[in-house]
Amino acid sequence: MARGKTASRAKQRQDMLRELAADETISFSAGGCASRAVEAVEALHRMRDGTYGKCVDCGGKIPAARLHVKPEATRCIACQSDYESRAAHAELAAPVRRTA
Ligand SMILES: [Zn+2]
Repeated sequence: MARGKTASRAKQRQDMLRELAADETISFSAGGCASRAVEAVEALHRMRDGTYGKCVDCGGKIPAARLHVKPEATRCIACQSDYESRAAHAELAAPVRRTA
């Protein structure tokens, strides 16, 4: 597995959140909005580097209909389904520590 890549992506997300937090026009009163904003910024980065619309797992093309509904999608439907299934199993195997 590409643990380094995952850690690097997590750091990228943190950096983006910091950038967004510095932008006074974005409100962080609703936690979900911050996450969506980061996903949108990531999508813009992918557009810039030419990887937008390409599945991060299989490298296949994400169908236009999926991008129309979820423009920030990073995986095709099959890979997203696998990813969510793996995430659910990982969560069951090692419950996330809750800090608040
Ligand atoms: Zn895929």
